[in-house]
Amino acid sequence: MTTPLTPCPHLIGGEWSTPSGATTPVYNPSTGEVIAECPVGGAAEINAAVAAAAAAFPAWRETPAVDRARIFFRFRHLIEQNHDRLCLSVSREHGKTLSEARGDVHRGMENVEYACGIPSLLFGDTLENLARNVDCETIVQPLGVCAGITPFNFPAMVPLWMYPLAIACGNTFVLKPSEKVPLTVILLAQLLEQAGLPKGVLNIVHGGRPCVDALLTHPQVKAISFVGSTPIAKYIYETGTRHGKRVQANGGAKNYIVVMPDADIAKTVEALSTAAFGCAGERCMAGSTALPVGAAAERLLPDLIAAANAIKVGRTDRPAPAAQPDMGPVITAAHRDRVLSLVAASESEGAKIIADGRRAKIADAPGGFYLGATVVDGVHPDMTLAREEVFGPVLNVMRMDDLDAAIAQANASAFGNGAAIFTNSGRAAREFKHRVKAGMVGINVGVPATMAMFPFTGWDDSFFGDLHIQGKEAVQFYTQQKVVTSRWFGGDVGDVWKK
Ligand code: NAD
Repeated sequence: MTTPLTPCPHLIGGEWSTPSGATTPVYNPSTGEVIAECPVGGAAEINAAVAAAAAAFPAWRETPAVDRARIFFRFRHLIEQNHDRLCLSVSREHGKTLSEARGDVHRGMENVEYACGIPSLLFGDTLENLARNVDCETIVQPLGVCAGITPFNFPAMVPLWMYPLAIACGNTFVLKPSEKVPLTVILLAQLLEQAGLPKGVLNIVHGGRPCVDALLTHPQVKAISFVGSTPIAKYIYETGTRHGKRVQANGGAKNYIVVMPDADIAKTVEALSTAAFGCAGERCMAGSTALPVGAAAERLLPDLIAAANAIKVGRTDRPAPAAQPDMGPVITAAHRDRVLSLVAASESEGAKIIADGRRAKIADAPGGFYLGATVVDGVHPDMTLAREEVFGPVLNVMRMDDLDAAIAQANASAFGNGAAIFTNSGRAAREFKHRVKAGMVGINVGVPATMAMFPFTGWDDSFFGDLHIQGKEAVQFYTQQKVVTSRWFGGDVGDVWKK
């Protein structure tokens, strides 16, 4: 028996509609089954969504910040009430384990919590007597219609990085979610609708490049937030800014984890295997390359291999009481095959596969997109595996002679998202923190991804723009400042303070 397809409507001006026409399949990666058909929208849908967002803007802009915040308090409550349903949706369309899906929803919800504080985030500055009897103040105002374009790997969190804060700031929004995971976005938007968000403030249009291009060139779109791979991030930044928009575009990554000889090996192995294999390696903050320094390799590798081999892969799409595996599938068959070919290429170039997850098969889900945890030793900087973002459960090992060499290796990367060091030496940690070329640094923390109140600070090819996503930088991104200089002359009310 085949499961009925989950509806995948656009949301334009408060109306949900499922058009006839071209679609792309949405898979349950655990089984390979098609669970929904995602509509392929284009310029017509984007124009309608931007028009709806522009029409909703004047009234939304006038809505007091405390009233806007109250909608997000209710939204947060509804997310909590629907938590299990949301997590199951994430696992079903993405393949993460339920516990990873909880992380996805939670990290997203923290951004809603941050947006609840919007009245105090929108304070301006004032200076009395800038000159005699002249005062000066800054007022923070929304931009208008903002847009977001999101990737497949965090179906809940990444969209929640964008629209709650943008909308809380007084903007209206058009979201173009990943066509691979459009379903959780819809559930969340239904909850926000239930929380009382007026029609047209949030719009969703599904599709691929034609939608993106229509957003990038639309004269009424003032700002674009993007998260995805580096070539597309660069394209979004260049095209969007050429069309006069603010753009913040997060790209891909290749994150290094340095292991010093004095590191606590048990804790390091645990952190390293979570960093490399968590979410099947499909995280922009995945710790995908270990750089053991000197004697660290001999201490680390036996336990690391054992940890990788112990990771159970399996279906993530069944609710409790079904047992959950340690790791789920990757997003598509094509993506699994790409990862396999990168590992095969490194082997033929001389690297050694010391934990081999390439033949993972799940008996009750033969059509799922599975890969087991894989560790590749002897990776050389020239190998494609070393240079490209793999985005799968593959940990590269590059042995380093000393900390200088490890920092130089990390700094040679074109990316600059995250980097971490495991050590008990404050001096080594301080040196690493100071010299490493990455925007988010972990010290005995494998995935130093920032929480909602801190900016998500990718550098170099991991970020194109100026103001980052999350935290105060994001408030600045979604607002513009007005500076008002004022003085008052005597009016017709007379001298009110003199009897
Ligand atoms: P992707 O770049 O393929 O797609 C991202 C978005 O861009 C999707 O909405 C997609 O429809 C759209 N898109 C794809 N091709 C396009 C094109 N040619 N023109 C215009 N739009 C296009 O990324 P993905 O595979 O969905 O996600 C994985 C990538 O996202 C990884 O590289 C990962 O590192 C990155 N990522 C980065 C961060 C970060 O904060 N730096 C966070 C999560 C994911």
